[in-house]
Amino acid sequence: MPRLVGIFGGTFDPVHYGHSLTIAELLNTIPFEKILVIPNSLPPHRENSQASFSHRYKMTSLAFRDIEKTVVDNRENLRTGPSHAIETVKQIIAEEGKTKVILIVGSDSFDGIHSWYKWRELISLVDFLILKRLDMPLSKNKNVQDLISPTRFSEDLLLDRKAKSIFEIEMTPLRISSSLIRENIAKGKSIDNLINPLVKDYLKKHGLYGSKNST
Ligand code: ATP
Repeated sequence: MPRLVGIFGGTFDPVHYGHSLTIAELLNTIPFEKILVIPNSLPPHRENSQASFSHRYKMTSLAFRDIEKTVVDNRENLRTGPSHAIETVKQIIAEEGKTKVILIVGSDSFDGIHSWYKWRELISLVDFLILKRLDMPLSKNKNVQDLISPTRFSEDLLLDRKAKSIFEIEMTPLRISSSLIRENIAKGKSIDNLINPLVKDYLKKHGLYGSKNST
């Protein structure tokens, strides 16, 4: 049976339960050896993050601290230039040797796959698991839909070393986003139940997202 290594990248601005609890559930569902959680340094598909890499990295480390088999990885801050998934993937494939590397993304991220740098090469190198986000479903766009495996996800298919597949997978849906958290903080609304208390304390302590006067 091949070793399974997951890569879960994101801006994590800030990290929330939609990230950490979903990954914890995924780890209970699929026998990953580990999942590398990789904050982006310079996200290529969005405006610059609000919090610095250092703050986002520290918050992500707090959020995943108690989730076994996750490793928060700072490699994207060690490179110069934009964070392209393909470079990270190639590095990890080279490091891990005989492994099946699986990129884990939310449906909203996968929707933009055609704009990812060297996406064709990327999908030839790794499998994808797309986490269904009910509030941001995968578009009906045929170009996107055609990439998704018509077969329902099964662990056996993932473990087949030869095939490279793109599966949608349904974990307990959590309607939480970093934007919602930033918005709640700005409006002085509670972010409890959306975010790990350690992350909440951290962002308050550092006055991130304007949190000093609110929550
Ligand atoms: P923003 O609201 O600022 O766009 P976000 O909440 O989508 O941020 P990201 O850091 O961009 O957070 O997300 C990293 C990865 O996690 C992406 O692939 C995204 O689709 C996925 N993701 C984010 N929130 C959830 C969630 N609630 N459930 C499942 N996947 C999620």
